[in-house]
Amino acid sequence: MIESIAIIGSGCAGLTAAIYCARANLSPLVIEGSQPGGQLTTTSEIENFPGFAEGINGFELTDRMRKQAERLGARFLSENAVSVNFPTDVKKVGCSSSAIQAKAVIVATGAAPRMMSIPGEKKFFGGRGVSACATCDAPFFRKKIVAVIGGGDSACEEASFLANFCERVLIVHRRNEFRASKIMASRTRNNPKIAILWDSVLQEIFGDDKVRGIKIKNVKDNAVSEIKCDGVFLAIGHIPNTTPFKSVLAMDEDGYIIGNGQGAVETSVSGVFVAGDCSDKKFRQAITAAGMGCMAAISAERFLANEGFI
Ligand code: NAP
Repeated sequence: MIESIAIIGSGCAGLTAAIYCARANLSPLVIEGSQPGGQLTTTSEIENFPGFAEGINGFELTDRMRKQAERLGARFLSENAVSVNFPTDVKKVGCSSSAIQAKAVIVATGAAPRMMSIPGEKKFFGGRGVSACATCDAPFFRKKIVAVIGGGDSACEEASFLANFCERVLIVHRRNEFRASKIMASRTRNNPKIAILWDSVLQEIFGDDKVRGIKIKNVKDNAVSEIKCDGVFLAIGHIPNTTPFKSVLAMDEDGYIIGNGQGAVETSVSGVFVAGDCSDKKFRQAITAAGMGCMAAISAERFLANEGFI
């Protein structure tokens, strides 16, 4: 059987694409992976997704999108896509235990925050004090003390954003200079609410039911100190989930799929579209991923029509 369209990924981008494709009568097949739902399922309360005045739990938001897609006619395959072959005619997606063929494909495999593998990180991640998204979680730390880990643009941007809410923001960076752009770095340095701990690595996040503090080591003199704080924001980069597409789709040096068209959802291969965090390292928001999912679906539908497939 050759599907009209296969959507790889079931986060905000993939599920929005599924809703649009289903409403276009394309009966999309969503290859949803073994851990469906994407990054939203690891966040707690979402207060910035329009339409939910009281906020909504990340897991519930994704679950609602999935049900909406299913009601409209999307089908789901609980397998991981592990390999792809995208010739000009029929696209092939190799899954854990099946092989899918489709006339068009939307890649919406997302990204994962880079983690540090230190004690406490997993325990407190997602609603208990450790986050990888200040835009999502800063309002939960009003008048609190938080630590931001990293020295790149994300760390500086997150720290500045958090400073609007928090009593104090500590940046913990492993070197003595920022990787961030000059303008971001100087804005961060000049913010009176932000203190920077140079040459310092995070060793442990501790607490009870919530984060109460961090243990950091100075890499110059190996001194270990404990600092009280209420939250830890990891800003040491993200890893796009794009391994199966290497040498198939054009990517930047960090492995993000490069959009090739005006709407940036066309990839380097005709008939293959991209949406969400696997191609967006700038915004990384649920709503922007959903928007890209919509754009990819409409572009895919037009491609199928133009090619005479539907
Ligand atoms: P990044 O530029 O790769 O910076 C990651 C930072 O985390 C670096 O300072 C790095 O330290 C540190 N780090 C990495 N692994 C670590 C570890 N295991 N332990 C401790 N520290 C660690 O990542 P990013 O800041 O997320 O930015 C990614 C890309 O998006 C960049 O191209 C950036 O310019 C772009 N971006 C742009 C904007 C904007 O334009 N507004 C905003 C955000 C991001 P070292 O410096 O020692 O390597």
